[in-house]
Amino acid sequence: MTSPARSPYALGVTGYPLAHSLSPRLHAAALHDTGIPGEYRLYPVQLLPAGQADLEYLMTCLRDGRLDGLNITIPHKQAVIAYMDALTPLAQQIGAVNTIFRRESHEGRDHALIGDNTDAPGFMADLHKHFSQASIPQSALVLGAGGSARAVVYALLMAGWQVTIAARRPEKAVAIQAGSASLIAPLPGDQRCTVIGLDSLPYMIRSWGNAPTSSVAGSKPLSLIVNTTPVGMFPDIDRSPWPDDLPFPECAFMYDLVYNPMETALVRAARSAGLPAANGLGMLIEQAALGFERWTGVRPSVEAMRRAVVAGDPYVAG
Ligand code: NAP
Repeated sequence: MTSPARSPYALGVTGYPLAHSLSPRLHAAALHDTGIPGEYRLYPVQLLPAGQADLEYLMTCLRDGRLDGLNITIPHKQAVIAYMDALTPLAQQIGAVNTIFRRESHEGRDHALIGDNTDAPGFMADLHKHFSQASIPQSALVLGAGGSARAVVYALLMAGWQVTIAARRPEKAVAIQAGSASLIAPLPGDQRCTVIGLDSLPYMIRSWGNAPTSSVAGSKPLSLIVNTTPVGMFPDIDRSPWPDDLPFPECAFMYDLVYNPMETALVRAARSAGLPAANGLGMLIEQAALGFERWTGVRPSVEAMRRAVVAGDPYVAG
């Protein structure tokens, strides 16, 4: 007996603004590649409290089956937690949800909503593709202390990296550090997550260069820098979070979460200085592929998704 045809998947993303989101093209490619019927729509919802009724409506649609899955982006990654029945351990740890999927409710009524975070595994999956040394945890410097920094820092710590967070508001980085405490084996004298002010970056980098084992930087060599600030993103494409007169550390890999433009000022400067570097497009694709898998149970081709955003495949509407 053939199984009944499944009705098309109703998927989408909410956040604000969404006009330039690449997610519809990525997921259209995933649907096409897997042959799964469905659509992926934009659901712009303003910052709460203005957008509260709209956000609640989307949650109702997920519960009653009018929507099958939803991505969450800025500014709602924390706000949706209040509407979840459960969080995955990772989303709980990171304190942010970027993917909502459904489970049958035990009471047999509407579905239960599960909040997940695919940014952290998406980042690590892409890092491994670009940086062969990624599986040998050393020291990483993370610029910024916002929502994406949280996912990146936790992913690195869980993989055994030492992390220094450089933030213009160090108190935000301290909150990430405090939240990470349970991830880190309490090894005496091994401070695995350190915080500095962005203005101390030149001092720290110079100390690191002079003494790779300095206590300022931690005991392992600095081999990775991750930009999680939006500095350099369109339209401010000439800006970089790295101070002009500060040389890059030798032998570090530069990973910029910004992917618009494809080559940011930071990535360009790092490459000019001889550092290998990557933008955040791969992370965006990996987190989308993981979300699609949560919703449909099928892994899409990340290559097909990449082609849809870098070349504009003919089947993907602009
Ligand atoms: P966010 O939560 O607003 O955090 C941004 C962080 O950058 C905050 O710590 C902020 O500091 C800092 N910052 C902003 N402007 C700065 C400046 N001029 N100088 C120094 N620090 C500055 O944003 P987010 O969600 O983390 O996103 C950050 C960037 O990552 C965006 O460009 C986003 O598109 C990108 N991103 C990419 C992916 C991907 O898949 N590739 C995923 C998520 C995000 P304050 O707190 O002091 O404002």
